[in-house]
Amino acid sequence: MNISNSIVNKDELWQAILAQIQLDISQANFATWFKDTNIAVYKDGQVIVSTPNSFAKEWLENKYGKTIFKIFYNLDKRIKEVKYTVGKSELKTIKKPTISFPSAGQLEFEEFKIDKETNLNPRYTFENFVVGPFNELAHAAAWAISKKPGLVYNPLFIYGGVGLGKTHLLQSVGNAVMKNFSQKKIRYIPSEKFTTGLVSSIKNQSIEDFKIKYRAIDVLILDDVQFLTGKEKTQEEFFHIFNALYEKNKQIIISSDRPPKAIPALAERLRSRFEGGMIGDISYPDYETRIAILKTKSQERGVNFSDEVLDYIAVNIQKNIRELEGALNRLIAYQKINNQPPNLEIAKSLLKTLFLSPNKVANYKKIIQAVTEFYDLKEKDLLSSSRKKEIVGPRQVAMFLLRELLKSSYPFIGRKLGGKDHTTAIHACGKIVKEIENNENLNNEIDLIKQRIFSA
Ligand code: ADP
Ligand code: MG
Repeated sequence: MNISNSIVNKDELWQAILAQIQLDISQANFATWFKDTNIAVYKDGQVIVSTPNSFAKEWLENKYGKTIFKIFYNLDKRIKEVKYTVGKSELKTIKKPTISFPSAGQLEFEEFKIDKETNLNPRYTFENFVVGPFNELAHAAAWAISKKPGLVYNPLFIYGGVGLGKTHLLQSVGNAVMKNFSQKKIRYIPSEKFTTGLVSSIKNQSIEDFKIKYRAIDVLILDDVQFLTGKEKTQEEFFHIFNALYEKNKQIIISSDRPPKAIPALAERLRSRFEGGMIGDISYPDYETRIAILKTKSQERGVNFSDEVLDYIAVNIQKNIRELEGALNRLIAYQKINNQPPNLEIAKSLLKTLFLSPNKVANYKKIIQAVTEFYDLKEKDLLSSSRKKEIVGPRQVAMFLLRELLKSSYPFIGRKLGGKDHTTAIHACGKIVKEIENNENLNNEIDLIKQRIFSA
């Protein structure tokens, strides 16, 4: 397995490395900073990455340098540093003929051409969406809508935890409608962007244009609606747009990390609108589906791993499809360098750090932050002595998580949460333990909070 002896195709290697980076940063950042980059030199433990301009060079160096180095080092321990340069010409490398490797390699930048009009990413389709018991219902509803937008389920509300395919499914509907009904106006918008758009239109006094634009849409897809939490003005505008579209039988599709009733600070009238349509959840994929997803993705990328390697990944990653892809990407990078797939032993060593990466470790700060963000509270409320229900509940959850994840002592927990007595902590933990036994909602909430903690 000596990398120096294998002929490394630098383009393929870079694609494989980009595949890993892509999962860690936002799509917009990825497209901005990694476009037109490639590996100029890969030799004797030295790597030089070429960038299109000095701006990109600095960003890669300063912001992503560590991550990029780690990924390289993980593949080839001889690498001592990764340097950056502007443009290829400086290096006087011979310009290679551009190889065309199968476009199934999802990372070519054409794939990132997000449609300006619709905001849709063509990479997300029904064709490459794997269906299993965990997402069957949500998929069926989405599929039906793509055939008859506005006429079957309206609105469609899809919820589920991080990395489980909400965005993929929502965008699949958009892309399918675009194909089936070319005259329809579709708009995909993450809730945060919707808010920013609204705010800037208010600032520029173009709110009327903003409204007109949204009211002309046939299929409106609003992703991650939980981010509208507490944003009253945005919710109000969205409510009006919602009604205008709904009355005209225009399709509305919404996603969230939790069901409507569990979104804090959501205007009651909006909540009841969301509940008035079809609600579909996406839970966790079972083992068989995880294997199916791994196989589909390997096939798309033109690689083939042994069953025991796939089994190893599927057993270790159970709750996040994005992480399944991340693991696969790591192995693909290895394969590109070595021209052969890793065996189980090598796969284990390549993935070890992924399963134990630092963000998999909880700490006090992450727990408190995740709880306050989830329930839309301020940290000082959580630590206060308030007896309000909206605060006591989350505080008890925080205590429970400190106990469960950090094995903190009761006196420590009480002290950290605003100087409470250890008996308060004991009571809180006991109460949550008992309640999650038969309160499914609370159970889901705690699961979501844990996901936040471990992806922070
Ligand atoms: P979410 O929006 O729920 O956080 P995403 O839709 O971004 O999750 O999915 C995370 C990654 O997993 C994406 O790359 C997506 O393509 C992939 N993915 C999720 N669900 C599926 C599925 N059922 N079949 C194939 N790929 C999936
Ligand atoms: Mg998403």
